[in-house]
Amino acid sequence: MVKVSVFRLEHRAVRDKRISTHVALVARAFGADSIYYSGDKDSEMEKSVTDIAESWGGPFTIEHVDSYRKFIKDFKGEKLHLTMYGLPYKTELKQLDKQDKLIIVGGGKVPFEVYEMADRNIAVTSQPHSEVAALGIFLEHLSGEKKGFKNAKQVITPQDCGKKVVEK
Ligand code: SAM
Repeated sequence: MVKVSVFRLEHRAVRDKRISTHVALVARAFGADSIYYSGDKDSEMEKSVTDIAESWGGPFTIEHVDSYRKFIKDFKGEKLHLTMYGLPYKTELKQLDKQDKLIIVGGGKVPFEVYEMADRNIAVTSQPHSEVAALGIFLEHLSGEKKGFKNAKQVITPQDCGKKVVEK
């Protein structure tokens, strides 16, 4: 089974808290197994993500790493960097193999060495938008909708109108 991890580059605790949390939640909802991040260690963000995984199920882990350079270099598998400057995702997806994947998304300025360390630089349109959107669209095409989360304490029963949550 191919393991999918997301890497969020250089998190800034004050500026990026909400968007990095959303990157993590999208990663989990769309089937990634874990998220790693560099930059400021942010226990508050880690707790929000861990709390969601505890309530809504997992497995999903979040972990801070000191050096993006070392982490990306040492990762065993395909390193896929999402950037508007890359090649179109629909054609790149067809070239992927069965190795584990590390999907890298930026925040502030992405150091050029990340483009060089990546096996593929992949664009979800050649227009500037958001790491949250790029990750969601890419994961949806990579692995499709995740069916079922283990150990969920609550599960939504879809409704045409209203909110139905079943406690497990
Ligand atoms: N200014 C940054 C730089 O140096 O490239 C990018 C800022 S952008 C708001 C943050 C991140 O969103 C990027 O690093 C990239 O991962 C993702 N992103 C934005 N637009 C994208 C696109 N069209 N395709 C793929 N990823 C995109």
